[in-house]
Amino acid sequence: PGDATMMVPAVRREIDQAQDILGYETYVKMAGPLRPEQIVHGTDNREELARARHGFELAASGRSVVIVSSGDPGVFAMAAAVLEALDDTDKPEWHGVELVILPGVSAAMAAAAKIGAPLGHDFCIISLSDNLKPWATILDRLRHAAEGDFAMAFYNPISKARPWQLGEALDLLRQYRSPETLVVLGRDVGRPTERLGHTTLGELTIDMVDSRTVVIVGSSLTRAIAKPDGTAWVYTPRWYGTKPA
Ligand code: SAH
Repeated sequence: PGDATMMVPAVRREIDQAQDILGYETYVKMAGPLRPEQIVHGTDNREELARARHGFELAASGRSVVIVSSGDPGVFAMAAAVLEALDDTDKPEWHGVELVILPGVSAAMAAAAKIGAPLGHDFCIISLSDNLKPWATILDRLRHAAEGDFAMAFYNPISKARPWQLGEALDLLRQYRSPETLVVLGRDVGRPTERLGHTTLGELTIDMVDSRTVVIVGSSLTRAIAKPDGTAWVYTPRWYGTKPA
């Protein structure tokens, strides 16, 4: 997510060994320190398939290549784009590339751990971006998750290009969950600009959220424990229904 200590050692090793590093510039910077002879191919965040293909071209020519993502590369990030690029081609030299996908600490996990254990029971992760899926599908999934009383982590909650979606998602949730439902907001988790806190579904407004925020909406059982310093631990118990004796 941004903090070097949250990068798994296997990833550090691959980055250290790579000749070419591809990725969104912000994330490439966070993947440092790099050596001067390592070649950085920084690109805009939106060109994911093009970046994946570029990675295959370099790797097929014999180069050792790393494509970086923030958090976990398999969660709304480059690993799926890399496999889509591979799926789209019959080029034997691309299929012959020695490909490994390494896990990372996803934003929801990083935020959850810092504030407690809001994902301590069943939960789902939903991207609120309707760039690559219909908004109706997102609402349908939200409704089912709400009916199932899942805790939920929202990625891509809002952006300049998608200003109204979060408000509509919250309107839907409020039909199922009480205003006291706990909500965790983690912004830039693991980065120097980190902000982490919690509020309630009743008090949450969309101006508290931006594109660098992960929003965790608790289930009906998610609770808070006040800390002596005025903040709180937020957690969802492991049990459901009635508390075991
Ligand atoms: N692969 C990333 C997610 C990419 S989708 C991961 O596993 O974390 C981009 C969304 O992830 C952002 O809109 C935001 O909701 C969330 N996100 C990514 N990094 C974050 C961080 N450090 N702090 C808070 N949210 C983050």
